[in-house]
Amino acid sequence: MHYEERFMDLIQRLDKGPVLCAEGYLFEMEKRGYLQAGAFVPEVVLEHPEVVTQLHREFIRAGSDVVQAFTYYGHREKLRLIGKEELLEPLQLNALKIAKDAANEFPDLDLMIAGDVANTNIYDPNNKSSLVEVERMYEEQIGWAKDAGVDFVVAETIQWTGEALIALKKIKEAGLIAVVNLAIPANDLTRDNDTPEDACKKFEDNGAEVVGLNCFRGPIHTMKHLIKIREKVSCHVAGLPVPVRTTDKFPVWFSLPDEGCDCIPNNRPFPVGIDNLYCNRYEMAEFAKDCQSKNINFIGVCCGAAPHHVREMAVALGRKPISYKYYPDMSKHFILGTDKTLSSINTKHQDKYKAEEKWLPKG
Ligand SMILES: [Zn+2]
Repeated sequence: MHYEERFMDLIQRLDKGPVLCAEGYLFEMEKRGYLQAGAFVPEVVLEHPEVVTQLHREFIRAGSDVVQAFTYYGHREKLRLIGKEELLEPLQLNALKIAKDAANEFPDLDLMIAGDVANTNIYDPNNKSSLVEVERMYEEQIGWAKDAGVDFVVAETIQWTGEALIALKKIKEAGLIAVVNLAIPANDLTRDNDTPEDACKKFEDNGAEVVGLNCFRGPIHTMKHLIKIREKVSCHVAGLPVPVRTTDKFPVWFSLPDEGCDCIPNNRPFPVGIDNLYCNRYEMAEFAKDCQSKNINFIGVCCGAAPHHVREMAVALGRKPISYKYYPDMSKHFILGTDKTLSSINTKHQDKYKAEEKWLPKG
């Protein structure tokens, strides 16, 4: 890294090429047993901060350029829902501190810290008091992020153009760089009936530096809209799908079925029975390359992301992140390997385990 790169902001970085952003803390913490599915409130930030730190470390080692504070769903409405509003400020401040401390463990990397605000779940365009409350929620969170010295703020997983515009207004009032990402429902429109590209144009016109999509959809059903957004706006575009094989019939994962399993309660894999519907690392690498070729430079993964996805995306972008040290090398596998020092009693068994012809790599 060149010395001057340390002083580049997000926009200057994006002007030069892709920026990788790992997210998905909520689902990973649920899987590890530190967070309850349903309400999805990140109390782990206060109860087990060391676990959050470790996940930040793993994403950094995998090549994420951004350390996003785990404030997602740690907002006032979520804490009201579980009767713990008094935890709001300590949770927010601790999440920001954990992110900064984790980044500081890697002084040789050019990491950026992101604040994060999300769907408030109380936005109602026809209810004036809800609009006031939404504004207040964004303002307090963005204030804490600004005080913590974040490099930029991501507003994400928002289904309403109107709600995202409030978040954007508050980020700009704080004088910070804004990344605004929508989560698009199955009918391909925001809840207030904008196409994703029209909504993103409104965000650009109101000062957003980066606009795009995150969550809800897998790579293919996210890319479908990113292409139209890229055509419509001049600013940078972001794409952070869930690493899930959504389908044309079920482009959003809430209703995606698992045809291979008949014991999932209510036949709804979302959110905790998704296992066999997840994309593998190679599929996410293809998404990253696709984004790069289309000048979609803020690239990442949302709920369901794990460090192996992020590392493969980094490698696809031509990088060698820290955990590249342990990148697969099957030449040393005891049966499938080619290393001359392997015992032939096992390697001669290889022909019993041939990959299907159609799955062999091209060339
Ligand atoms: Zn998500």
